[in-house]
Amino acid sequence: MAQHIKGIGASAGIAIAKAFVMETPVFDIPTKTIEDAAAEKARFQAAIAKSKGELEIIRENTLQQLGPDKAEIFSAHLLILEDPEIISQVNAKIDEKVNAEKALDEVAQMMVMIFESMDNEYMRERAADVRDVTKRVMAHLLGITFVTPAQINEEVIIIAEDLTPSDTAQLNRKYAKGFATNIGGRTSHSAIMSRSLEIPAVVGTKVVLQEIKHGDLVILDGAEGDVIVHPSDEQVAEYEAKREAFLAQKEEWKKLKNEKTITADGHHVEIAANIGTPNDVKGVLENGAEAVGLYRTEFLYMDAETFPTEEEQFNAYKTVLESMGDKKVVIRTLDIGGDKELPYLDLPHEMNPFLGYRAIRLCLDQTDLFRTQLRALLRASAYGKLAVMFPMIATLEEFRAGKALLLEEKANLIAEGVTVSEDIEIGMMVEIPATAVMAKQFAKEVDFFSVGTNDLIQYTMAADRMNEKVSYLYQPFSPAILGLLNNVITEAHKAGKWVGMCGEMAGEELAIPILLGLGLDEFSMSASSVLRARSLMKRLNKQECEAIVEQVLDMDTAEDVVNFLSTTFDIKK
Ligand code: PEP
Ligand code: MG
Repeated sequence: MAQHIKGIGASAGIAIAKAFVMETPVFDIPTKTIEDAAAEKARFQAAIAKSKGELEIIRENTLQQLGPDKAEIFSAHLLILEDPEIISQVNAKIDEKVNAEKALDEVAQMMVMIFESMDNEYMRERAADVRDVTKRVMAHLLGITFVTPAQINEEVIIIAEDLTPSDTAQLNRKYAKGFATNIGGRTSHSAIMSRSLEIPAVVGTKVVLQEIKHGDLVILDGAEGDVIVHPSDEQVAEYEAKREAFLAQKEEWKKLKNEKTITADGHHVEIAANIGTPNDVKGVLENGAEAVGLYRTEFLYMDAETFPTEEEQFNAYKTVLESMGDKKVVIRTLDIGGDKELPYLDLPHEMNPFLGYRAIRLCLDQTDLFRTQLRALLRASAYGKLAVMFPMIATLEEFRAGKALLLEEKANLIAEGVTVSEDIEIGMMVEIPATAVMAKQFAKEVDFFSVGTNDLIQYTMAADRMNEKVSYLYQPFSPAILGLLNNVITEAHKAGKWVGMCGEMAGEELAIPILLGLGLDEFSMSASSVLRARSLMKRLNKQECEAIVEQVLDMDTAEDVVNFLSTTFDIKK
C-alpha cells in the first residue's frame, strides 16, 4: 500500500527512484576474547579492503564533480587505510586475542590522541581524518551500512535526517535524483543548495528516515512537498506525466533566456541569481540571470580543511567576475555561524548560535581573517563589476568598521602597485530587524541594500529557520515583514540607493507582485527560478501592483494577505 508523507517543498521537480537511506550509524563496540586470531585478522583485512573500494569510488566521484583539490581529501584517507603502523598495531592486539572491533577502536583512539596533542595545526586536523576512516572500517566490521553521497552510483532518492552542505556538495546530479530529509525548512542550507543544483527536494518531513527503507520505491514532488512510498502503478504513471509537463514548462521558459525582464507596463527590473561556488556560474548564465545578486563566500571556507589563502580566494572571485563579464556580481563577505559551521575555526559552543558570534561580528573581531578576504576581493575587482556587501549588520558602527577596513586594504594594495577597480559598490545585507527599522540612517552611508529575508523573517518572528516545528512562523507575507520591506525600500529610494533581495522570498511567485509594487530594484534567487520569475514579471503591471501594496500593508494577518494575493493574481502559491 502506498504511503503518503508530507513535508516542505524545497526544490521543484518530480523524482521517481529507489530510496537510498543515509543514516549516521551508532556504533556499539563489542569486547570479546577470540579464539582464531588468523580468522579475525582476515576479517579486519576484508573490512579494510571494502573501505578502500568505497573510498576509491568516492575519490573518483569527487574528482569528477568538484575537482582535484577536494578529491585530495580522499587520497589522504586512502593513505591512512594503508598505514602499516595502524595495521600492525591492530594485528598485534588481535594476536593477544582481542576482537578486531575493540583492537581497531583502541588503536584509533590512540592515534587520534597523538594527532590532537601535536603543536602543528595541520597534524591536529589529521585526527579528524583518522576518525573518519576508522569509522568506515568499523562499520564494515560491525556489518553496518555507512554511506556518503559521493559513493552513490545508481539513480536514487536520498533519504536522510539532514544533509550537511558538504554532503549536498558531493551529490552527483546524474545519480541523486532528489532528496527528502526529516529536518529543515525552505531556507535551510540543504534546501538552498538543492535549488542551485536543480535537484527536487522535500525537507522537514519529520519521519522519512523512520518510514522509508533502503531500496523502497519513492516518488518525490519537490513543489508540493509530497513523498509517496510504495506507489501504485497508477501513481507512477500519474507522476511520470507530471514530470514530463514540468520539463516541458521549463523548455517554454528557456525561450526567455536572452530577454530583459520588462513588466507589461514597461518597467525594467533586474533578476539576478544566488551562487555558492564558482561552479554555479554555469547555471546562472544558462538561466539568463542579469547578475549575481549574492555569492555566499562561506562555502569556499566550509569546503576546505583550513582557511582558504588570499590566492585561493582571489582565484575563486576572479573566476566568477570574469565569467560574468560586464554583469554585476555582489559578493558577500564571510557569513559563518548559525547552521554554517567551520570545523577548523575552533569556536566555543554557544547556547544560541544564530544570535551569537558570527558573520560580520566575527570578522570585525578576527580582522586578520577578514583582511585576507577583503584583499582577495579587491584584487579580483579588476576583472569585472564587483559589489561587496557585509552580512548580519546590526549597527551603523559595524557597517562603518567593515567599510573602513575595506578602504584601508584598498589603499594598501594601491600603494603596493596592485590594480583595484575604482567603482566597487559597498553595501550591506538587511537581515536584522534593527537595520530594517533604521533604514533611513543606513541609507545615507551604503551604496545599496540587499534584503536577506531568510534571516530577516527568522529574527522578526523569533523562529529558528532550521526548526520545522516552528516553520509555520516563516511568514514572508506577514504584515510585519511587508512593513519592514516597505520602510527599507522607501528610505533607500529617498536617498537615491538601490535595493535588492537575495533571500528566498525574492523567488516566491506569490511574493513577486508585492515586491514589484514595493519598488524592489533587484530580485536575486536560485538560478533555477530565474526564467519562471521572468515569465511572471512580463505578465505583471507595476502600477497595478503598487495599488495592491497599498491594500495589503493594511491587512491584519499573513493569511489574509496570501488569500487576497491568490485570488487577485493567477499564480499558484
Ligand atoms: C538571508 O538571510 O536571507 C540570506 C540570503 O542569507 P543566508 O540564507 O545565507 O543566511
Ligand atoms: Mg542570512
